[in-house]
Amino acid sequence: MQLVKIPLTIDPKKAAKMRSEYFGKIESANLPRLLDASAGFCSDIQVQFSCDTDEQGIVTVTGHSQAEVSLICQRCMEEFNITLQVEFCYSPVTDQSQESELPDVYDPVEVDEHGHIEIAKLIEDEFIVSIPFFPMHAVEDCSVKEQDVTVGEIDDTIEERPNPFAVLQKLKK
Ligand SMILES: [Zn+2]
Repeated sequence: MQLVKIPLTIDPKKAAKMRSEYFGKIESANLPRLLDASAGFCSDIQVQFSCDTDEQGIVTVTGHSQAEVSLICQRCMEEFNITLQVEFCYSPVTDQSQESELPDVYDPVEVDEHGHIEIAKLIEDEFIVSIPFFPMHAVEDCSVKEQDVTVGEIDDTIEERPNPFAVLQKLKK
């Protein structure tokens, strides 16, 4: 299915009034920071979100998104592709006081002078944060097999050895 491009910025208040729903893609060319955070490949991202007003009159922008990026496996140091999924629930605010009154379930997003938010950049941020700190292949796909990875266990036993300084302390006494 051919996905339409979603706008990179939206007017959330206006969109909420019309109960707008978006389903489409953001091209990877618009996601330079996510590409930087990857190992060199980042797909177009698939995005679905809706704008609405909750029962308290708060404008909401909620949805989810999916992307494929390449990362370096920290076990075998080879590149692999991973699918990242993020969910978001934003609410536009104009200042700090509005931000502090917002219920915790909403992520405050400050609007610009035109009342717009940069939805593509916000979703890009979600993906950057969702990249695993220690990315690894699934065990069955990794060229380094589990029995080869004993380094961590050896390190553990070293930590359990008595601290040589503690021994010195005892001698001093
Ligand atoms: Zn691997």
